[in-house]
Amino acid sequence: MRFVPPPATTNPRYTSKSCQHSGCEETTREGKPYCLHHVDKNPYARRLLDNLEQLEREHQRVRRRGPSAVDTKSDTSREILRELSIQRSCSVARLAQTLALPYPLTLSYVQALARRDLVVTSGFRRDRLQVSLSNPSLEQRCRGA
Ligand SMILES: [Zn+2]
Repeated sequence: MRFVPPPATTNPRYTSKSCQHSGCEETTREGKPYCLHHVDKNPYARRLLDNLEQLEREHQRVRRRGPSAVDTKSDTSREILRELSIQRSCSVARLAQTLALPYPLTLSYVQALARRDLVVTSGFRRDRLQVSLSNPSLEQRCRGA
């Protein structure tokens, strides 16, 4: 009996599908619904991109207008509170580094959160400014999230 290799199409990795974007005739990789040019039509990818755009717009607003432009319920604010629930107390410089955000932007968020009594800051020197959560029950909530 002669060995007959199975046809390549039985492996889903090699199944070629065409892109679902209307008018696009590209084939997609590894059975994905959209080609590389139209990956942003994928609802999940679209949602991630929308979130990023929204975040970028908020950061631009905060860079221009300072703490008053901060939404203390935004993803960035929540990230800061969550980070503080883990670190307990850390310098604003360290917080900026951890969140990969510019220092002045992070400082604006911290100042806005401090105005709402969500965090407390201590120290005066720029490189020594410490921040921590002001309310232990909030800490619990952040840990739970
Ligand atoms: Zn396409």
